[in-house]
Amino acid sequence: MGSISVIAWMDEVSAVIAAEADHLTQLDAAIGDGDHGVNLTRGFLAVREAVASSGDLPPGRQLILAGKTLVSTVGGASGPLWGTALRRAGRALGDAPELDGARLADALDAALAGVVELGAAESGDKTMVDALRPAVAALRAAVERGASLAEALEAAGNAAAEGAQATVPMQARKGRASYLGERSIGHEDPGAASTALIVAALGRALS
Ligand code: ADP
Ligand code: MG
Ligand code: MG
Repeated sequence: MGSISVIAWMDEVSAVIAAEADHLTQLDAAIGDGDHGVNLTRGFLAVREAVASSGDLPPGRQLILAGKTLVSTVGGASGPLWGTALRRAGRALGDAPELDGARLADALDAALAGVVELGAAESGDKTMVDALRPAVAALRAAVERGASLAEALEAAGNAAAEGAQATVPMQARKGRASYLGERSIGHEDPGAASTALIVAALGRALS
């Protein structure tokens, strides 16, 4: 069936966010304040180090540590939002020894609920929720039809990427981009773009 290594996931996230930092920053420069790539690169580098040096913790504890580290290293909207997401995912796992497909679906459900509770964004508001919600739904559906974890993660990654692309024609209703009103239309939301990268990285963290 396979399971996710949180250490490998955070390694992969840190690498891809650093590699795409300029692109994420450009997206944020168009409709925000141009710090998204820098924010997340700093945050996930710290997360990677914290998780790697935390010893032999169950995956839920590793995710809680990751979330706390993000909150304390990233100012701006994305730190508290992704920090809450990871902490909630970790809490949902409790002390489960393994992060398999069904548990991952539960954990990502809890992550999404935490983001919505904190940021109050609905689908269509042009935020990270527009990438995360379809990814969680696709993962859940794949797990329920008995797909392998690799297939389920591919479905989730594709759904997140499509969700991020779908933010282009949206008008932002939450976050800094909402200050632009109609001028936010025609640009991909940076937080949705980074969320697609974070979800896709799960597919490279299978063990
Ligand atoms: P800041 O806007 O504070 O500089 P970042 O640039 O790091 O923070 O992150 C911006 C991203 O945060 C946006 O692209 C959007 O996806 C996400 N975001 C902002 N506000 C909200 C919210 N209320 N709910 C969900 N996501 C949000
Ligand atoms: Mg910003
Ligand atoms: Mg900022």
